Amino acid sequence: MEFIDEKIEAYSLAHSRPESDILKKINRETHAKVLMPRMLSGHLQGNVLSMFSKMIQPKQILEIGTYTGYSALCLAQGLQDGGKLHTIDINEELEKMVRGFISEAGMDSKINYYIGNALEIIPTINEVFDIVFIDADKKNYANYYDLIFDKVRSGGYIIADNVLWSGKVVDAPDKMDVDTKAIDAYNKKINSDIRVENMLLPVRDGLMIARKK
Ligand code: SAH
Ligand code: CA
Repeated sequence: MEFIDEKIEAYSLAHSRPESDILKKINRETHAKVLMPRMLSGHLQGNVLSMFSKMIQPKQILEIGTYTGYSALCLAQGLQDGGKLHTIDINEELEKMVRGFISEAGMDSKINYYIGNALEIIPTINEVFDIVFIDADKKNYANYYDLIFDKVRSGGYIIADNVLWSGKVVDAPDKMDVDTKAIDAYNKKINSDIRVENMLLPVRDGLMIARKK
């Protein structure tokens, strides 16, 4: 399901910063060589993430779900000097490709890339985060939120992707599959958590943005 009219999206992209050469390459190679290329953030959302990051000027970013590195390179754009982006993925088959993209982007010193289960790796990263981007397995979104919450600074942002799940979140509850239920539960959990201010931004597949008070 496309949420915005194709012509409007094309016009918007034509009047936005173009993809850098490395992001174009990641986009192309992901579509050519990797399963489920739709998971890549892409031009529109990539620009949203890099613009948010430039607004927030983070020192430390945590990303859960690297995939081929597209969103990591976008989020890293706004890092302060000496800042770091930590990104975790369980899929070791992508490691070589992703490390190559990070090097080619000149980001080796700014990105710490961890291979493994995020549920196990998050507790080993002792940093205070300005931004957390949750974009791994949907059934664990609420677990990731609970695991990272105390590691986010007051005024920091927790951004979760795919929270509209191609529009399935508005299906009747008895029609929802497991992932849709998990995402709907995540949205309700954030919306009722008085420790954050939140908004669901209906860009691409939906971004839940929560700001820790
Ligand atoms: N953020 C990327 C897309 C991520 S796709 C972008 O926007 O371009 C989701 C990724 O989550 C996949 O690469 C998958 O391997 C990873 N993933 C799934 N379960 C995980 C887990 N338990 N721990 C870490 N990564 C996981
Ligand atoms: Ca995603």
